[in-house]
Amino acid sequence: MRRKFIAGNWKMNGLKAQLGEVESIAGAASDNSGVDVALCVPFTLIAPAVAAAGSMPVGAQDVHAAQSGAHTGCISAAMLTETGAGLVIVGHSERRADQCESSGDAWAKALAARGAGLHVILCCGETEEERDAGQTEAVVAEQIAAIPGDAHGDWLTIAYEPRWAIGTGKTPTEDEIAATHGAIRAKLGELAGKEAADTIRILYGGSMNPANAAAILALSDVDGGLIGGASLTAEKFVPIIEAAA
Ligand code: PEP
Repeated sequence: MRRKFIAGNWKMNGLKAQLGEVESIAGAASDNSGVDVALCVPFTLIAPAVAAAGSMPVGAQDVHAAQSGAHTGCISAAMLTETGAGLVIVGHSERRADQCESSGDAWAKALAARGAGLHVILCCGETEEERDAGQTEAVVAEQIAAIPGDAHGDWLTIAYEPRWAIGTGKTPTEDEIAATHGAIRAKLGELAGKEAADTIRILYGGSMNPANAAAILALSDVDGGLIGGASLTAEKFVPIIEAAA
């Protein structure tokens, strides 16, 4: 039985002035102990957010694949663990678009993070053109194809995030979400076997909000959500946590 997992992605938002929101969200996380909750914040806010979050895990939104070296401006997995981070998002579509990251890059980052003991949220999702061309399942399958045979839900979570749904207020239909999650679950089984398919959680991401969360979270093979805009305030994020509980 997979526990529901609600993760917030603050993107490039959040100064120390917003630590009160972290505290309120962490309070809701401890009030709803049947659901796992985490918040991925900018690098600069990780250490103060860890201090404010109590037992709620705080994560990063990217990591470099190398352990150290000549990579100006980058952050290694060991550096993240030293700040107190417990998880990291890799392969987010905004990084694939803005920083030209490939599925190979995302996977190299995932392995580095795993090596440092971080939980990994690996994002996948199609563009609107790919969706219109009926390529959603093929695109997503390529994006997760590097998952190794020993993958397990202890260290890996998948986030299915249609690119065209992120920050747009648009979402796929419930049938489409359930079908794509089912296809991802089947692909996990092919790549890594039944244990992986049974334990790895598949989150939906893309314009999830307090109004649509309960219906999306009730769909088969949806094990939680990766939430951007609606995770920035406790007012919007807490109802989503409660919908998952
Ligand atoms: C995200 O950034 O992963 C995301 C899903 O954003 P939003 O909820 O704002 O669409």
